[in-house]
Amino acid sequence: KLHNTILELKGNIRVFCRVRPLLPGENNGDEGKTISYPASLELLGRGIDLIQNAQKHSFTFDKVFVPNTSQEDVFIEISQLVQSALDGYKVCIFAYGQTGSGKTYTMMGKPGNVEEKGLIPRCLEQIFETRQSLRSQGWKYELQVSMLEIYNETIRDLLSTNKEAVRTDNGVSPQKHAIKHDAHGNTHVAELTILDVKSSREVSFLLDHAARNRSVGKTQMNEQSSRSHFVFTLRISGVNESTEQQVQGVLNLIDLAGSERLSKSGSTGDRLKETQAINKSLSSLGDVIFALGKKEDHVPFRNSKLTYLLQPCLGGDSKTLMFVNIAPESSSTGESLCSLRFAARVN
Ligand code: ADP
Ligand code: MG
Repeated sequence: KLHNTILELKGNIRVFCRVRPLLPGENNGDEGKTISYPASLELLGRGIDLIQNAQKHSFTFDKVFVPNTSQEDVFIEISQLVQSALDGYKVCIFAYGQTGSGKTYTMMGKPGNVEEKGLIPRCLEQIFETRQSLRSQGWKYELQVSMLEIYNETIRDLLSTNKEAVRTDNGVSPQKHAIKHDAHGNTHVAELTILDVKSSREVSFLLDHAARNRSVGKTQMNEQSSRSHFVFTLRISGVNESTEQQVQGVLNLIDLAGSERLSKSGSTGDRLKETQAINKSLSSLGDVIFALGKKEDHVPFRNSKLTYLLQPCLGGDSKTLMFVNIAPESSSTGESLCSLRFAARVN
């Protein structure tokens, strides 16, 4: 490891809360004022208060981003973590929240809008730029990407060129992409496509490819991307040709499945199975991060595919950042409260 970053002084788990703006057509019934954020939310520095049934719930996070915070300003706050990955750390950045709260906007941004591009493209730009500038100091970096989704506790390879199974119960077998960790903390996922990449442009093509692979749909009503976890992984190996130093870092960016609780009694069949799989993996993720934060001896990594896949990148001296995304309309208050409680537990 080359540098000790400032983050280490404060522990390795961070939580940032991001409240998205009201979207056109959404309002909270107080059109009189220009709404920067709604009456049910109060944002103060690192704090967020949420008012539900005249009761105030207060939370404090490492950062709270108000609705009009730009993508660039959000990125500035995480760019240190990108540097850590180049320095040889394993980094995970998650986006957690109900469907529609801004997870994909945070991670990917708005398609075709340069100003509003999200963290994934910005991280890649920083990495390729840094790689270029470190050349003069003898550093050579090799970068590899993989992209997968976890749906119903089954991994799907999103960079596969043979169309990998439409998602049905008789699609990918749950065993096809078996996960193994070796003694050096490297993860191997069987038959997963891993590609060398040389520019951020190349990665954007792959991201488009992955997005198309994801959208293979069963029904349109049930937007599948919100029912699965998207895991983008960049493996970074650096070697310094004059000093012979070596670094191996990993940057994982994860757009989680929507955290909303689905209609309690109404879910049946596939929908119920999805809901159970999502609940299980999100609560396992919460349990794992909580246990790591408390430095507990037993960390229940094996309770879900997601936590098992990311095991070597969570805990130890790796670095974790969780975005909790919040939708501001008052109709989302219940879900927002659940998300904030989840985030407060792992913080
Ligand atoms: P999720 O992935 O959590 O389901 P999205 O990222 O798709 O949510 O966001 C829902 C909608 O809100 C999208 O139309 C998105 O462009 C918009 N949106 C989300 N966050 C912001 C933001 N910070 N600024 C502007 N628009 C946003
Ligand atoms: Mg999304």
